[in-house]
Amino acid sequence: MAQPIGYDDTPILPGTNWHVHDGNRPQPPLVTPGEFSTQQAPGAPPADAVILFDGTDLSGWERRDGGEAGWKVEDGYMEVVPGTGYIRSKQQFGDCHLHVEFRCPDEIKGESQGRGNSGVFLMGQYEIQVLDGHDNPTYADGTTGAIYGQYPPLANACRKPGEWNVYDIIWEAPRFEGDDLARPAYVTVILNGIVLHHHRELRGVTSHKVVTEYEPHGSVGPLDLQDHGDLVRFRNIWYRPLVGYDET
Ligand code: MG
Repeated sequence: MAQPIGYDDTPILPGTNWHVHDGNRPQPPLVTPGEFSTQQAPGAPPADAVILFDGTDLSGWERRDGGEAGWKVEDGYMEVVPGTGYIRSKQQFGDCHLHVEFRCPDEIKGESQGRGNSGVFLMGQYEIQVLDGHDNPTYADGTTGAIYGQYPPLANACRKPGEWNVYDIIWEAPRFEGDDLARPAYVTVILNGIVLHHHRELRGVTSHKVVTEYEPHGSVGPLDLQDHGDLVRFRNIWYRPLVGYDET
């Protein structure tokens, strides 16, 4: 007979139904990990990821006004077509681990906010900046990885123009009770393996040249990608919902 695992004669962990080392506590679900991306190719997503863009088409995307997404797709990536507008995922989601890869043009054009600018907008309104931040001075709360207009990143972890960059973003959506903010949004941002923000509390929705505030919204929203007029590419976009399997 197999030895029982764990203990049932240990103290109860406060706030839970479980003993310390409880043998009956549910096991975490099995998730087959993906592969890390290289410059040559995106890595396979984790087995249970929700795929938003796999490099083949824009069927999961639309323009912000609901029209057809005007960006182009080729060779496994999508690229901004300037003037066609922001695009948004048809999927809506809240708390998540979001994975996005981007590449700024290898041909260097413009400076400051005019070089390789795009953006990852969580729930359609909270921007993590995408910019060619390599040797490109700009205001700190607008550089690559900034929570735009709120917090500079802890580091400039940009790769050179023409190279792929990898965002892993852990997003906790804000909670509202009626029109009141019950809990702000928090975000952790990792760029190319470097922590840029660690559980940072957001001040509100993204805005320009003003101190921002929250505006009440629902518990889910789309992912928006910004058309800022530059030829930025994206690939390998997926998320995993953050759901507790064992919250008691
Ligand atoms: Mg931007």
